Amino acid sequence: MRANADTPHDSRVARDFGAEGIGLCRTEHMFFDGDRIDAVREMILADNEEGRRKALAKVKPYQKEDFLGLFTAMEGLPVTIRLLDPPLHEFIPHTDEEIERVSKASGISADHLKAKATELFEFNPMLGHRGCRLGLTFPEIYEMQVYAIFEAACELVKQGKVVKPEVMIPLVGSYKELEILKDMTNEVAAEVIAKYGVKLDYLVGTMIELPRAALTANEIAEHAQFFSFGTNDLTQTTLGVSRDDAGKFLPIYVEKGIYKEDPFVSIDVSGVGQLVEMGVSKGRSIRADLKTGICGEHGGDPESIAFCQKAGLNYVSCSPFRVPVARLAAAHAALKQ
Ligand code: PEP
Ligand code: MG
Repeated sequence: MRANADTPHDSRVARDFGAEGIGLCRTEHMFFDGDRIDAVREMILADNEEGRRKALAKVKPYQKEDFLGLFTAMEGLPVTIRLLDPPLHEFIPHTDEEIERVSKASGISADHLKAKATELFEFNPMLGHRGCRLGLTFPEIYEMQVYAIFEAACELVKQGKVVKPEVMIPLVGSYKELEILKDMTNEVAAEVIAKYGVKLDYLVGTMIELPRAALTANEIAEHAQFFSFGTNDLTQTTLGVSRDDAGKFLPIYVEKGIYKEDPFVSIDVSGVGQLVEMGVSKGRSIRADLKTGICGEHGGDPESIAFCQKAGLNYVSCSPFRVPVARLAAAHAALKQ
């Protein structure tokens, strides 16, 4: 039983409720806090790699602080950290009012902000330049995050603490994406671990949140030490239903009995469920000890948890306040089996 948590406070709440680790830390939430959003925007607005690296150097100490806090709150337990996932335009202002305010506060001209917003515009951002696609096109972003993770972990190990980082790559559809980013992660980890002169065990894994990832899970498992099923995106991409727009028609679908329940709330067992089962079995055909879990919203839903038990997942992860109910549901599911 794990929790989706991005702050030391949420981690402690989850731990008090019985969570046995973090199943999903969405690092983008850390990018919005306090002063760091200025540096994040500077990175996005930079015109070249050098400018991005300069801005990222300002973000890194914040990220390291974040990870020190998370690892400390979850000492001795696994912490799965997902590298940056959302499209970059989510971090810059869009409305005239916001642009004006940010321009005044940051000294960046309103015209520059507007031009960047136009440049980053996407017709379909959920299927656009996000997830590991960011890490592949702007390697310096993921590199900064991986340095921050391992520097924080090694610092704590030096103090005698037990830290179990798990680096998670989002939105993988081809094993090649994962291969490249896994190699980068291992190289950075080796460098930092050697620099600190400590021993640190860690895992590198991926989210399975695109149908292609489930269909090719055997290829992906060659490069992943764990799979975490991102059933929010997996539902969206399997059903072809935008999770941000579904509110207009899904309630009517449920009313008409087309779906028994909202598939973003309770897992669509006959559709999405098949992909989860396929992912687990294809993954384990290559790596028998592959750790598998779920970190979509379904991880806190009792019926979906019963499905996860049947599918052979090792853990479910949900928001801290759902942990007690999820634990009970997981216990019932295990007893039933
Ligand atoms: C998911 O897709 O299930 C997931 C956990 O990621 P996010 O909701 O952040 O896209
Ligand atoms: Mg997702």
